[in-house]
Amino acid sequence: MRALTWHGTHDVRVDTVPDPEIINPRDAVLQVTSTAICGSDLHLYDGVIPTLQKGDILGHEFMGKVVETGPKSTLKKGQRVVVPFTIGCGACYFCEKQQFSACDNSNPVANQDISEKLYGHAMSGLFGYSHMTGGYAGGQAEYVRVPFSDVGPVVVPDGLEDEQVLFLSDILPTGWMAAENAGIEEGDTVAVWGCGPVGLFAIQSALLMGADQVIAIDHYPRRLELARSLGAKIINFETTKVGEALMEMTGGIGPDAVIDAVGMEAHGFAIDNLLEIAKQKVGIGADRGHALREAIMAVRKGGRVSVPGVYGGFLDKFPLGAMMEKGIEIRTGQTHVQRYSEDLLRRIEAGEIDTTFLISHRLPLEMAPEGYRNFRDNQNEWTKVVLKPGAA
Ligand SMILES: [Zn+2]
Ligand SMILES: [Zn+2]
Repeated sequence: MRALTWHGTHDVRVDTVPDPEIINPRDAVLQVTSTAICGSDLHLYDGVIPTLQKGDILGHEFMGKVVETGPKSTLKKGQRVVVPFTIGCGACYFCEKQQFSACDNSNPVANQDISEKLYGHAMSGLFGYSHMTGGYAGGQAEYVRVPFSDVGPVVVPDGLEDEQVLFLSDILPTGWMAAENAGIEEGDTVAVWGCGPVGLFAIQSALLMGADQVIAIDHYPRRLELARSLGAKIINFETTKVGEALMEMTGGIGPDAVIDAVGMEAHGFAIDNLLEIAKQKVGIGADRGHALREAIMAVRKGGRVSVPGVYGGFLDKFPLGAMMEKGIEIRTGQTHVQRYSEDLLRRIEAGEIDTTFLISHRLPLEMAPEGYRNFRDNQNEWTKVVLKPGAA
């Protein structure tokens, strides 16, 4: 089959590789019909995630048609399914608590060392995201093996197009959980740093949850325009002082809740850094947590901070004093995708949530390297790329 494979920093290629096969009884194999490039794929592209190997297939946002099933899969051949990027077994201590992204069984023991040293506990398995998270082949390919296929995949009802449901794999539930973690109450003002796909879905979710005013902060005009089209007020941080503007827009009180949908910049996540951090020698550089620091300083006293943005190591100058003295709550985490699938699918079907507005480019899989390059270098215009395996 053809698949997008990683060969080094800024070197991804579409190669011919062996087809995936059923390995475990609970597996299924999908023929991928749509797959997307995610902001977090750019960390892989930038070569800053450790334990990637040449030839690894990337992609954790995908959907497709079931073409093979193991004897214990509950899927049926021919069904269309969307697959959560977090791999959950459905039966461990964490999955039982609906904390699927903390699953203890989906990351093979041999791959758990790095994350256990870094975080005190091993991470769960993720699709297409290095060997530290299980080494699973991703879905930017013609076919993909889906482990625990009786737990995660969502069967797509007839009548829904791929693009309406594809983002149930990651960014839609991630934006939704970000808003949920912000503890939004009716009438709240919510400020969102970052108008990438997760930030945009967090804005949409916050408004659905009853926020009165959502303020979006970014510097790409097109992304700010998308935020405005959802009903947000916007701040361009290149031309406006964010802290002052937020105070003005909230009558001197500050936002009730803030969402950091930026996360660390990719640069600081080099393997040396990570290993050093594991040894508790050094922190990640000082400028990378800018959005989070600004958000914590801006949020009102007694407010809430939600962090869907990805952080990998330690953060310098973390304003713990501001958090304590202002009485701030903070919530974060990889998304428990499976927990939200049913509710979000229902909202899509009901027309409450539109997922298609942020797609800027649709490309055949063969053009994926061009998609990566532009998604990284032309962020203003390239807001979301959907790849179509099998298309010419
Ligand atoms: Zn993603
Ligand atoms: Zn589990």
